[in-house]
Amino acid sequence: MTTVTAEATKTCPHCTRDLPVSAFALRKRGGESRQAWCRDCINVTRREAYARRNR
Ligand SMILES: [Zn+2]
Repeated sequence: MTTVTAEATKTCPHCTRDLPVSAFALRKRGGESRQAWCRDCINVTRREAYARRNR
């Protein structure tokens, strides 16, 4: 049996995981470019930045 996972992957430099490109949010500007970090990392850092600002 062959596993056909043709989906391209990308390594997140923050958590160093290999994730499908769909795990990376698209940038609103810049056409095809995606965020460098995966959604998980972006969510975490966003939450931290928000918490810091509201301290
Ligand atoms: Zn990540």
